[in-house]
Amino acid sequence: MKRILLKLSGEALAGEEKQGFHEPTVRKVALQIKQLVEEGVQVGVVIGGGNFWRGRTSENIDRTKADQIGMLATIMNCIYVSEICRAEGMQTAVLTPFECGSFTKLFSKDRANKYFDRGMVVFFAGGTGHPYFSTDTGVVLRAVEVEAEVILLAKAIDGVYDDDPKKNPSAKKYDEVTIDEVIAKNLQVVDMTASILARDNKMPMWVFGLNEENSIVNTVKGKFNGTKVTV
Ligand code: UDP
Repeated sequence: MKRILLKLSGEALAGEEKQGFHEPTVRKVALQIKQLVEEGVQVGVVIGGGNFWRGRTSENIDRTKADQIGMLATIMNCIYVSEICRAEGMQTAVLTPFECGSFTKLFSKDRANKYFDRGMVVFFAGGTGHPYFSTDTGVVLRAVEVEAEVILLAKAIDGVYDDDPKKNPSAKKYDEVTIDEVIAKNLQVVDMTASILARDNKMPMWVFGLNEENSIVNTVKGKFNGTKVTV
């Protein structure tokens, strides 16, 4: 694979605590990214913000403002993971859709391409830059813009099921499912806005468990144990 976009939830950085950062967990992810970069894969990363803040669950304040806090949370996460990657010897860049002074660089396709070509890990922070969206939409948008081959969705769950396996023990995991079926059955691989963007722009998404040993590297190398969402 030439270019992939990896999506991590904010909670994935938090380990058991579900809040803030759990450095050993992040280091494991960083080492897998390093292996891929060393093998010539261009890796972009999008991270959620749920380990700090979610706009839609903050009922007492204006949604736009709550979402702005959420977008800032995703930037904190990207700066943190970027620094762990640097500590492991990688070169990184954090791009945002709005100016953050000298903390990040403004996103453009040309700038992202330049960094990818230099072998840097490129973090797409701040989501889409707009309220009422999510980092699910952010990752699909950036993947389409930078012409990634596939989005790797590293999740707490190991694939896409026809029902919630926590509530229904006979729920079945798909090896492959079309994006049309995901949308029709509301299988919630990513949110609906992101699903439709992926369908309209033919962007495949592969879902797998982040907690399985070396799962990011294995997925890229074809030892895939999750669900492929095809388009
Ligand atoms: N967010 C936003 N626009 C975006 C991306 C994120 O407003 O383009 C905000 C939103 O408040 C969201 C939070 O950032 O709840 C964290 O992003 P994430 O995608 O993790 O949110 P989740 O889907 O878990 O709510």
